[in-house]
Amino acid sequence: MTDDTVYSLIDGEVFEGTGDPVVVDDPATGSERIRYADGGEPAAAAALDSAQEGGRAWRALSPSRRGEVLVEASRRIRAAAEDLAQLECASAGKPIRDTRAEAQKVAEMFAFYAGFADKLFGDVVPVPTSHLNIVTREPLDTVVQLTPWNAPLFTAGWQLAPALAAGCAAVLKPSELTPSSSLMLARILHQAGVPAGAVNVVAGLGGTAGARLVSDERAGRVVFIGSVPTGRRVAAAAAGAGRPSLLELGGKSANIVFADADLKRAARAAQGAIFAAAGQSCTAGSRLLVQRPVYDQMVEWVSDAASRLVVGAPSDPATEVGPINNRRQFERVCGLIETGVSEGAKLMTGGPAADLAPGFFVRPTVFADVTPDMTIASEEIFGPVLAISPFDDEEEALALANGGAFDLAGAVWTRDVYRAIRMAKAIRAGTVWVNGYRSLSVMSPFGGMRGSGFGRSSGIDVMHEYTQPKSLWIETDESAVAPFGYGPED
Ligand code: NAD
Repeated sequence: MTDDTVYSLIDGEVFEGTGDPVVVDDPATGSERIRYADGGEPAAAAALDSAQEGGRAWRALSPSRRGEVLVEASRRIRAAAEDLAQLECASAGKPIRDTRAEAQKVAEMFAFYAGFADKLFGDVVPVPTSHLNIVTREPLDTVVQLTPWNAPLFTAGWQLAPALAAGCAAVLKPSELTPSSSLMLARILHQAGVPAGAVNVVAGLGGTAGARLVSDERAGRVVFIGSVPTGRRVAAAAAGAGRPSLLELGGKSANIVFADADLKRAARAAQGAIFAAAGQSCTAGSRLLVQRPVYDQMVEWVSDAASRLVVGAPSDPATEVGPINNRRQFERVCGLIETGVSEGAKLMTGGPAADLAPGFFVRPTVFADVTPDMTIASEEIFGPVLAISPFDDEEEALALANGGAFDLAGAVWTRDVYRAIRMAKAIRAGTVWVNGYRSLSVMSPFGGMRGSGFGRSSGIDVMHEYTQPKSLWIETDESAVAPFGYGPED
């Protein structure tokens, strides 16, 4: 089942859009792949309406039953993993080897959060009065989730699984460029027993459907995964409606290699850090900072390896680097490569893959001798473009790493355990790896600092984003007298 007809899925039913046509190209060929009508404000409004009843039906099930449904969802996602992977590969242009792994990760997410459904225990607070004070965690009724085009299936599962485990109903608006896998996932959830309306998918544009969703007072939280400028607009709109948000935004992560590191492992990991998913990854290790004594060696190894990575059709299992997802982003990446050259960075390898045009392919690109004032050192490129810079000592490495505006992730490579700990503590980022890169698990919290967003997904932390505490005061002493006011006997 790899149907990628696009519509909104509201109350378990097809809701056809009536707005402007949305045209999506095949990233591998550059030609039109799908066309559908924007769901716009009508789909957004209908989805929010549906979520009210859908959420009530979902919360009417016992927490244990909700957990069982999510276990069943995990099982069904695993059973459909190959279809999900093929659909994601075709619609997002991601290599099939990556989408296969992502489909399995989504199954894992539902299995993991299923366990939380009946383990959201409360607290008893030893208040100094005669009350029994019980704090429960209450689900937010309806949450709005906006996801990007670079990892549509992964980010949908990432947010839907904990939201449902918490007892929320969700209105998910995937990127208008990649709605297909979210629709398929929602249908699987319904088949597993999630009530129609507890998960609605709105297929539409950000400026119409998205804008309507994020400014509605019924959104218990607006969860946004996407670019920095849009995230700021979304958070402002949500705040205008008095609603909180969670922002998972972009990054410009630094991968720091000291001369005493295992350089061969570091060189290999540096490639996965930036070239996996063709650099369209929020945690991409787009800046490689290398200590001077081993700088030339690392530049040579990484550039040579980058030129050997297999660039090609996403459907080919041999492909390591697929195309850029869309024409606009492809042109942006190509433009930033030109900027890198014009600003004086040394182009070691890469650039647009003219031989694969009109597909949106960019070869793994390595710039050396990048200085902090260059555009490619500070802007998130969101493509397979690595900027390598030298440094002398820890102090300089930290100044470079922490000098940008985004603080999503970072890594340090060294065999000196003291330095590893010093650096890991000092790197300002939500995720830091020591002698590694890219390891992530749904079990561990994930999110940015400063410009990369606020709030946390994954782990138990995200359960706090989808619930809120309620404090319950129960009088246990029937002779207790209120310290204010008079009784009839006074
Ligand atoms: P984007 O900001 O263009 O869009 C994200 C979502 O917001 C889409 O669904 C879009 O339709 C919607 N949207 C756009 N305008 C809107 C508006 N005015 N109101 C409401 N919704 C609106 O992002 P993108 O280009 O799709 O994704 C790439 C970005 O996502 C990169 O910056 C990347 O780093 C980031 N990202 C971050 C994470 C993370 O976890 N931190 C994960 C994946 C991607």
